[in-house]
Amino acid sequence: MAVKTATEKLIALQGVSKSYQQPNGQQIVILEGINLELHSGEIVALLGPSGSGKSTLMRMIAGLIPPTEGQVIYHDQPLVGLNPGVAIVFQSFALYPWLTVLENVELGLKAKGEPPDSRQKKALRMIDIIGLDGFENAYPKELSGGMRQRVGFARALAVEPELLCMDEPFSALDVLTAENLRFELLDLWLDRRIPTKAVLIVTHGIEEAVILADRIIVLGRNPGRIRADFPVTLPHYRDRKHPSFQALVDQVYKIITNPDLEEIEPPPTVSTQESKPEPKYQSLPPVRIGSIAGLVELLEDRPKTDLYRLGQELQLEVDDILPIVEAAKLINFVELEEGDISLTPIGQEFIAGGIDERKEIVRTQLLEHIRLVQQIYRLLQAKRNQRIPEELVLDILETHVSPEEAQKQLKTAIDWGRYTEIYSYDEPSGQIFLDHQAIEEEQLAAS
Ligand code: ADP
Ligand code: MG
Repeated sequence: MAVKTATEKLIALQGVSKSYQQPNGQQIVILEGINLELHSGEIVALLGPSGSGKSTLMRMIAGLIPPTEGQVIYHDQPLVGLNPGVAIVFQSFALYPWLTVLENVELGLKAKGEPPDSRQKKALRMIDIIGLDGFENAYPKELSGGMRQRVGFARALAVEPELLCMDEPFSALDVLTAENLRFELLDLWLDRRIPTKAVLIVTHGIEEAVILADRIIVLGRNPGRIRADFPVTLPHYRDRKHPSFQALVDQVYKIITNPDLEEIEPPPTVSTQESKPEPKYQSLPPVRIGSIAGLVELLEDRPKTDLYRLGQELQLEVDDILPIVEAAKLINFVELEEGDISLTPIGQEFIAGGIDERKEIVRTQLLEHIRLVQQIYRLLQAKRNQRIPEELVLDILETHVSPEEAQKQLKTAIDWGRYTEIYSYDEPSGQIFLDHQAIEEEQLAAS
């Protein structure tokens, strides 16, 4: 493990918030009240579900976008414009296809005004360090994904940034390539072959965070806030199978799977920041009812299951399984307690039911618990022709979320409502309407 030397404060975020203005003038808050310091000598993992504002936070640190409120402080001075001490590695590699490997790596140096001679020398040195020797004159399309991302690393590291920022740098790579690159990067860092003082890695992979980081920061959603910020003191290189490794992964999993928990039981040597308030609106995870049914069926013969183990068993990433769990929880099919998931009586009733009963149970749960479905249903009932344009729902949603997110929420609400025949949807016209046959049946049943 690297010897600890005196640390230096590189970057601080003070009371940072970020909002975006909607086309209709409304503000959506993406991040709120972020206080954070990054020090030399640490690899910090920024962890959180997708949409929690991880990339946004990183972009503010890099000076690519300014905060709406608060300040980014770089070496004790408020940051204006691009942060000269930061270089970024992107998930998408972001290489220029018409430039060679060498030219791509030289780009950052060129932007810094480095003269051509030393530019090429530094670029070649980094190409060598990062394992791209012999590929200097290749074009990105001739390279595998792993090699392309090496170019991304070489380009970022060539400028010798104080802070190396990486936004899900391994997630576009296959598992083995990703693991190799992770450890190679760790080698470079631990052997101090790169002068980088600190690393910030944005990820939604819990294990990735626990493998690499000296400190983990967990962001929550709506709006993004820091939910936990704690050191990881396990020595490198960490063994994924070691009980302390697994215990820590478990703890982080619990924090992430319990977004509503007021008090989070912290991992050893963990301090959690103040919990977030109730979300302002209920967000629908973009999953199909069929996936919820699949999850619930899996739990049939298990009284209480550890979510993390379930994910491992199914070989699913946290980002894949969490939305399904969230959705099942919203309609009260499952209960979550400290990372353990179990069926509720309603969930059990669902499993025992036939097709029609199942549909009826979901329908009742949606109308009782899902605000957006309730809202749409009430709007439809209030209309004489029992039709509304989807734009109406989008307008309502966009007072809370971005247009892109509003589309997703609407799509989910339409899928769920259609499946249970609460309402129907006409794709070409974008009209949502009550299905008259269904209404008549309901009235008949009621009389
Ligand atoms: P993460 O990286 O954690 O997945 P992001 O930082 O990319 O999250 O985004 C957080 C939220 O901010 C998302 O809901 C996204 O739609 C929204 N968002 C990001 N950039 C913009 C923008 N330029 N305008 C409006 N909304 C944005
Ligand atoms: Mg992101």
